[in-house]
Amino acid sequence: MENCVFCKIIKKEISSSIVYEDEKTFAFLDISPASLEGGHTLVMPKNHYKFVSEMSDEDSKAIALTIKKLSKALLKFGEGMNIIQNNNKIAGQYVPHVHFHLIPRFKGDGITIEKWSSHKYKDNRAMEEIANKIKSLLKD
Ligand code: AMP
Ligand code: ZN
Repeated sequence: MENCVFCKIIKKEISSSIVYEDEKTFAFLDISPASLEGGHTLVMPKNHYKFVSEMSDEDSKAIALTIKKLSKALLKFGEGMNIIQNNNKIAGQYVPHVHFHLIPRFKGDGITIEKWSSHKYKDNRAMEEIANKIKSLLKD
């Protein structure tokens, strides 16, 4: 897609630190890493989609395998790893080409990605209502 920074990186019109590439997927280092020690790898399909829900089954399978491959390496590099994927601005997506953030974790790294403030459902009914809503949307 024209004007997409990640499409330009994939086509090598913009330089990047490539860590993996195959027919359908591409991975390079995020220019502003969450972790200085372990870097921060971005994994994406070569085809342009905005959201994870738009990806073809073929590209979905390919990205899952590339994430697994890179996870094996990154879990040898760090002591743990977070995988994050943002969809739409409200969820923190700034680049509209679907991508997964792979962030190796080290003791005392100060990264707080996993520490969202959690809530308690009012009661079981409130929790069931959400489960039912999701189940009904799965049928669409
Ligand atoms: P997101 O907020 O999920 O859309 O993530 C976009 C990520 O892309 C951010 O972490 C940016 O630091 C990263 N980014 C943007 N432009 C580049 C670039 N030219 N090379 C490498 N990473 C980039
Ligand atoms: Zn793109």
